[in-house]
Amino acid sequence: MDLTALNRIRVARSCADLGLSATSAPLAGGTWLFSEPQPELRELVDLTSMGWAPVEVHDDVLTIAATCTIRELVELAPITGWASQHLVQRCARSLVASEKIWDWATVGGNIALALPAGAMTSLAVALDATAVVWTPDGGERRQAVKDLVTGVRTTTLGPDEVLRSIEIDRATLAQPAAFGRVALTKEGRSGVIVVGRRTPDALVLTVTAGVTRPHRLGLTADPNPDDVARAVAAIDDWYDDPHGAPDWRAAMAGRLAERIRQELA
Ligand SMILES: Cc1cc2nc3c(=O)[nH]c(=O)nc-3n(C[C@H](O)[C@H](O)[C@H](O)COP(=O)(O)OP(=O)(O)OC[C@H]3O[C@@H](n4cnc5c(N)ncnc54)[C@H](O)[C@@H]3O)c2cc1C
Repeated sequence: MDLTALNRIRVARSCADLGLSATSAPLAGGTWLFSEPQPELRELVDLTSMGWAPVEVHDDVLTIAATCTIRELVELAPITGWASQHLVQRCARSLVASEKIWDWATVGGNIALALPAGAMTSLAVALDATAVVWTPDGGERRQAVKDLVTGVRTTTLGPDEVLRSIEIDRATLAQPAAFGRVALTKEGRSGVIVVGRRTPDALVLTVTAGVTRPHRLGLTADPNPDDVARAVAAIDDWYDDPHGAPDWRAAMAGRLAERIRQELA
């Protein structure tokens, strides 16, 4: 779509080039930005020219650049010790029109957009990722992705802040995980996504897509079905749109959570 209110697209090559304002926005893959009118925007600042390595494997953390495309993440060679790498494929395939947008859509764009069906948010929250955010004074702040996404299309990102990357502890990557998703139609938008991860002393369930913001349910190492049902029942912000009614999403989340409990038992 032509964005007729725009005056310019600026190519950023360094932090100093970012200079965002209330009428400018970071441009990543552009798959959402160019999909609907943006009457309030005068300028886009292209982040894809920043030259950030898509993925960096360090001794203690895995860093995924905000500009890493979904295809780059999906096609990543197996990383030693990443027991839950299968989640990348499952989450990527949860996006509507998956492969059509994989080449352009980015991990950071998906998280910053904060749609309930943001499957890169599902992945990041399930793996306890930390968002590294560049602030306009040239500094950075860190926040759990779980807390960065606060609601439907809302985040803690200020208009002049940029999501630089997400970081995941290598120890977390080593933990076994299981994935569950339902949608009303075969290729439809996700109704609910539940990801389970087994830590040494807990079962951690992450519920997304069916809720307005990501939820983390911390359970004991060996919860019973009632524990899981109670934890899911405590969620009170089931999302309501044509892709699923709140009571259906709640019921499906309970079913997926119980299946994941059994799978990771
Ligand atoms: C056919 C189709 C199907 C889709 N299906 C889904 C779906 O199932 N689930 C879903 O969640 N989305 C879906 N989308 C929406 C969108 O394509 C994805 O969310 C995509 O991941 C956005 O990434 P992008 O890099 O293209 O972001 P852009 O379009 O470039 O940007 C999206 C928003 O994030 C901001 N932004 C981008 N990068 C950063 C950054 N690093 N720091 C701060 N702000 C930033 C932009 O300013 C903009 O406001 C779909 C889109 C299409 C066209």
